[in-house]
Amino acid sequence: MTDLLTWYLENRRDLPWRKHRTPYSTWISEAMLQQTRVTTVLDYYPRFLKRFPDPASLAAASEDEVFKYWEGLGYYSRARNLMRGAAYICEHFDGSLPSRPDLLLEIPGIGPYMSGAIASLAFDYPEPAVDGNCIRIYSRLHALPVVPSEKRTYDEIYSRVKKDMPEENPGDFNEALMDLGSLVCTPKSPRCSLCPFSTTCSAHLLGKETDFPLKKPKKETPVEEHTILKIYAGDRILVRKRPSQGLLAGLFELIDLPGNLTQEEVSEWLLSILGTPAPKAEESFTSEKAPSDPTKPKADIRSLGASRHIFSHLRWNMVGYEIRLSSSSPSGSSADTSSLSDDISAMLQKLGTLVTPEEYSSLAFASALSAYR
Ligand code: SF4
Repeated sequence: MTDLLTWYLENRRDLPWRKHRTPYSTWISEAMLQQTRVTTVLDYYPRFLKRFPDPASLAAASEDEVFKYWEGLGYYSRARNLMRGAAYICEHFDGSLPSRPDLLLEIPGIGPYMSGAIASLAFDYPEPAVDGNCIRIYSRLHALPVVPSEKRTYDEIYSRVKKDMPEENPGDFNEALMDLGSLVCTPKSPRCSLCPFSTTCSAHLLGKETDFPLKKPKKETPVEEHTILKIYAGDRILVRKRPSQGLLAGLFELIDLPGNLTQEEVSEWLLSILGTPAPKAEESFTSEKAPSDPTKPKADIRSLGASRHIFSHLRWNMVGYEIRLSSSSPSGSSADTSSLSDDISAMLQKLGTLVTPEEYSSLAFASALSAYR
C-alpha cells in the first residue's frame, strides 16, 4: 500500500475542506459530498461554514434558514440530520465532535462511513471509511464478486481495508482511496495505466475491470405526473410548505396538482376552486375580457412548459402553468391582493400562503421545481 500513498502525495486533489481541517468542517464536507459532485459542493461549503461555523450555531438556526443555505444541493434529509446532529453534539459532547468512531456513531445522521472519515481525517484514528469508491477499488484489486449494497460486502471490504491501513496517517490512506476512486478507478472506464495497483490488481490482470463489483439488476423507476401552478394574486405568489416527513420534507413548493393537466383542465380546476374561468388557450394572455361577475378576479393563464426531475428512486414528469389573478373591477389595482374579494383571498389562503416577491426569493424551494421557480 506504500505505492498508493506515494501516488496520493503526487496526485491529491486540492480541495477547500482539506485546508484548515477541523472535525466539524470534516463532518460538514462529508455530509455535502454524499450523493453530490465535488464541483457542486465547492460553492456551498464555504458559504455554509461561514454562516454556521460550529455545532452551536447550526443547532440554534431555524430549519428554513439551513435549508436556504442547502438549496440546490438536494437530499435535504442531510441538512436536517446535520441540525439534529449539531443539537446532539451540543447536548452530549459539550459542542465538540468526539474522536472515537463508536461515539461518532451515536450522533444522528452519522453512519459507519462518516464516522470512519471523521475519525481518520480529523483525529488520525485508524478507522476505514468504506464507501462506493472503496468497495469498487477493493473488489477489483481482489476480483471479489460482491454486490455493493449488501451488508456482507461492507463487512468484507471493511476488514480488508482495516488490515491494510497504516497506523500512521490513516486519514491519508482513506483519502488516497477516495481520490483514486474519483480520478482513476472510475466506475465505467478505469484508467489502469495511471494506477499504482496496475501490476497487482486482479481484475486488471484478468482484463475484466468493469466486471467488478457485480451490478445489481436494475429496477424500473416509478414515474409520477404533477402539474405545478405558479399563482400570482396581484404581486404576491402562492406557496406552501411540504409536510415535515417524506419526500422534500419541510421545503417550500408551488401548488402541485396530481397528473399532467391540460390548460383547459387547469382552467376548470380554477373555476371549481375560485369560481373564476381563465381565458381559453387560444386567447391572448393579456386578454381584456373580464368575467361578468365583478366580485370574481380576472385570471390569466399561460403554459410554463414541461419538465422532469429524477430522484434516486422516483421520477417526476411535470407540466407547469403561471396563473395571474387580478381584480376584475376597473378600479382594482393589480399590484396587491387588497382588491381581490375576501372570499377569494380566504380561498387562496386555504391552498397555501401568499408571499411577497422578496419573501419568495428568501424561501428554500425543492430543486425539483427549479424550472418553475
Ligand atoms: S488497476 Fe485498474 S481496475 Fe485495478 S484498481 Fe487500478 S484502476 Fe482500478
